[in-house]
Amino acid sequence: MQPPPYGGPHASEPVAPAPVPEVPNSVRLSGVTKTYPNGKAALIDVDLVIPSGDFVFLVGPSGAGKSTLIKLLVRDEKASEGSVEVAGFDLGRMRRKEVPLLRRRIGIVFQDFRLLPRKTVYENVAFALEVTGTPRSLVEPSVERALALVGLTEQSRQRPDELSGGEMQRTAIARAMVHDPRLIIADEPTGNLDPLISWEIIQLLLRINEMGTTVMMATHDAEVVTALRRRVVALEDGRIVRDEVGGYHREY
Ligand code: ADP
Repeated sequence: MQPPPYGGPHASEPVAPAPVPEVPNSVRLSGVTKTYPNGKAALIDVDLVIPSGDFVFLVGPSGAGKSTLIKLLVRDEKASEGSVEVAGFDLGRMRRKEVPLLRRRIGIVFQDFRLLPRKTVYENVAFALEVTGTPRSLVEPSVERALALVGLTEQSRQRPDELSGGEMQRTAIARAMVHDPRLIIADEPTGNLDPLISWEIIQLLLRINEMGTTVMMATHDAEVVTALRRRVVALEDGRIVRDEVGGYHREY
């Protein structure tokens, strides 16, 4: 048998996936301006660094630019000026076909859950892996791990219409975590939940953060933000007007 070239593994041996390079910053925006085609400047000269492992609340009134910022981070929109780096990718130089690579490094959680209604909890989470061509043998253990993380192992065969709001959001978080992302972006994840269930979701996001995943959470939930004393980035009219550890409102 021929030795493998350059001492590499033989073609028939399983090849371990390349380790994800640890990047010091999950997010880095420098001088970012986003002007929509109608001339509206939704973000103006934004500088923002989120180190890996950080937990950040993104706050600000409606229209402040929070959604636009999130769209830039997941490459739904491109910055008009400045640079956007996420999970080690320079998004300004990224080609369209590379966007799925970025999306696998990020987990996104929405206010309205966005589950597939005809699929079970298990299938909703598995689908996120299947669309990226993950081998079947890896899908099952990854989905089971993600469901155990959010405490939904028992509900894995239920469909969304058989779940409570909190369970739907936990399914969405399992789906976001199934790729083992570096960064979770949660866009008002508690906006459709009552206060008690909201706290459960926040506790889950905090636990995910403690395990090493960077979390950025856009929210209007002043009570949660003020209670947790985490980093708060506040946007107003497209500019960062505050970036500090503290409550929902400025306290001085
Ligand atoms: P937030 O999420 O904080 O409510 P957005 O990022 O949605 O803020 O919006 C910021 C500003 O940009 C608003 O004035 C909004 O009307 C405007 N905007 C958002 N999306 C578009 C778009 N696709 N085209 C033009 N203007 C937009």
